Formats: sequence, structure tokens, C-alpha cells
Amino acid sequence: MLKIGSHVSMSSPEYILGSVKEALAYRANALMLYTGAPQNSFRVPISQLRIEEGISLWKENGNDVKDIIIHCPYIINLANTLKPETYLSGKEVLRREIDRTQAIGATIMVLHPGSSLTGDVHESLLQCARGINEVLKEEDNVIIALETMAGKGSEIGRDFSQLRTIIDNIELKDKIGVCLDTCHIHDGGYDLMDFDGVLKEFDEIIGLDRLSVMHINDSKNIRGAHKDRHANIGYGEIGFETLNRIVHHPLTDNIAKILETPYIDSKSPYGYEIENFINGEFREIPL
Ligand code: FE
Ligand code: FE
Ligand code: ZN
Repeated sequence: MLKIGSHVSMSSPEYILGSVKEALAYRANALMLYTGAPQNSFRVPISQLRIEEGISLWKENGNDVKDIIIHCPYIINLANTLKPETYLSGKEVLRREIDRTQAIGATIMVLHPGSSLTGDVHESLLQCARGINEVLKEEDNVIIALETMAGKGSEIGRDFSQLRTIIDNIELKDKIGVCLDTCHIHDGGYDLMDFDGVLKEFDEIIGLDRLSVMHINDSKNIRGAHKDRHANIGYGEIGFETLNRIVHHPLTDNIAKILETPYIDSKSPYGYEIENFINGEFREIPL
């Protein structure tokens, strides 16, 4: 079954109830949210998030809680080997996000592996794994999905083998997965026109069973640009045909696919983009 949705907002006064309403308005059957602003670690108390109302509405509409994806804040950088305080605060924020995810009843959390800055890349990969090991507990019922990154600046997770190195060093391997972002891997140099080839490589290096969630974005830049600028679906260098084939690929069936494309003149494109994927046919976004 096609599971498709977008990143949705979560804000006062309805919080998760509002997020669910937004997703339903797009005819989505998956959604992704940040449990607070992505750039900072300030968080509204769990008790105020209107979780029960939101989850009931989601289920009443025939949807599954496992298709609610949580994205961890960007400020977490477990890969920073230069500043111990960044590593320590990253672990604290990650721990709190795991607790919030479990309070919501969601399981998949997307985490950026981080940036090595001027430090040694291999050490950064190992430290990212160590941070996760020090935070994750046996009783946690979550999957931390490491996101494939575009390789902008000193980002780690820029190719499948870097993610493999992190995963190899994780202790609780049943709690680790991967979030494949189409814009990021295109910018990272992978040829999405040959998606079968990309999946084969993913399977050989990481294992397809670790593919937990996908981010579906077009890219403003050419393949290999390492820029990470998302474009609306059908308006970038990847194109609708290729993205549509990826979204409907049998090996990605049932995996939640989340759009993180830009707003157009402060209006959400997601309803239109989702409709185009459901129809398998490109129509211009009328915004
Ligand atoms: Fe991300
Ligand atoms: Fe992404
Ligand atoms: Zn991105």
C-alpha cells in the first residue's frame, strides 16, 4: 500500500491534533512532525500536546500510528568530536526526544548523523554510534532512522558505507534503521534514474530491511552537487517521473514516504504533490 504524507506543523493550541488535521486535509496516510522547533530544544510539556485526541482522529480515519514519523531537532550533533559539550547536550536532547516519541506512541525517529566539522570523519562516525549506544535502552520501543545526507559541508552519512560504519558500531541493532532522502542522495551523487541500482547498492551495503522511512523531495541542484536544497516535486533536477517510480516501487511498498518540499508563496504544496503521486500523473501545482 502506498503510504504518503508530508512534514506537518505542530503548534499551539492544537499541537498533535492540529498536525493530524493538517495531514488529513492533504489526504495523507503518513505524516512527519518535529516535537518542537527543529532548530532549538525548547519543548512544550508532553501533557499539553493533545496526543490522545490527535491519535484517535488519525486512527478513526483508518491510519496507523506507525506511519507517524518523528524528526529529531537539527541541533543534535553527536558527531562533533571537537566540543564535548555539544556531544553531551546532543545526547540529552536525543534521550528526551525518544521519551516524547514513545509518549506519542510513534516508533520511527529520523536523526541526522551530524557533522564532523574539522575533526576526523571516521572518529565522528564512531562517536555518533557511541552517543546512540549511551542513550538507547533495551526497553525503548523505537527505531532511530539515520538519514542519508547530501554531504553538505562536513556532514557525515553522505553515502551508504558511512551509515554502515555507524550501524556496525551500534549495540542495539534492532533499534536502528535508515531514512532515505531522495534529494540528499541525488545531491550525494547517486543516480535515481537507476533506482533499482540504488536499492541494490543499499541492500548490499546496509540491508533493505533497515529502510524505515523515505523523504521524497526534488532537488534544486544537479546530481553530486552536495548542496541540499529541496525543490517541489516535478520542479527540480530529479523530476516527477523518476520520483513517481521511486514512490510506487514494489520494494518500497508500505514504507512511509514524507514530502519536505518548500512552501510556494507561503502556501502548502503538499495536497497537490500527494494527489499527483496518488494519481501517478504530474499536474502543475496551481499556487
Ligand atoms: Fe532531515
Ligand atoms: Fe530529509
Ligand atoms: Zn534536506
